[in-house]
Amino acid sequence: MAIVSFKNTVIHNLFSKPKTRKVEKEYPQGTRGHVENDMDLCILCGLCSIKCPTHAITVDKAEKTWSIRPMSCIQCRCCVDNCPKKSLSMGLRFQEPGSEKVTKTFKQSEKAIAAQEALMKAAKERAAAAAAAKAAQAAQGGAAPAANAAAPAANPAPAANANPKE
Ligand code: SF4
Ligand code: SF4
Repeated sequence: MAIVSFKNTVIHNLFSKPKTRKVEKEYPQGTRGHVENDMDLCILCGLCSIKCPTHAITVDKAEKTWSIRPMSCIQCRCCVDNCPKKSLSMGLRFQEPGSEKVTKTFKQSEKAIAAQEALMKAAKERAAAAAAAKAAQAAQGGAAPAANAAAPAANPAPAANANPKE
């Protein structure tokens, strides 16, 4: 009798729809996802760390690393919206479950380091050129500012017109 019942169950299961749901391949609208950083773009400015309300992000400029504690993140996307290089994004997948409060650390890429060094070098060169131009201008027209400084005192018109009845 038990064998007949088992056989019926097998036949039923073979020709009926699965009782479980398939894993959804697309995340539902409104899924917040989790923070991802493109280390090719990140300049380690630290703005995301300052803006994060839960202090989940740490930036170490000396070590050239960017770290996040996923379990402290509340997916508010404040860091994403404030990143000047748009290197942060909300990856549309759920955070992996875990039992330990881990810190995920990412190293700034060689490409980003090179780009940042080039930017800093260009900024230094611009500052040096501006300082040299200013020095040259001061050397050429050093007397001009002194002559202009005397100009307001030489114009007594406002004082004379201050009280026309006198
Ligand atoms: S992720 Fe964006 S805001 Fe954060 S340190 Fe990098 S460049 Fe700056
Ligand atoms: S999404 Fe919000 S809580 Fe998470 S790291 Fe960014 S600023 Fe912090």
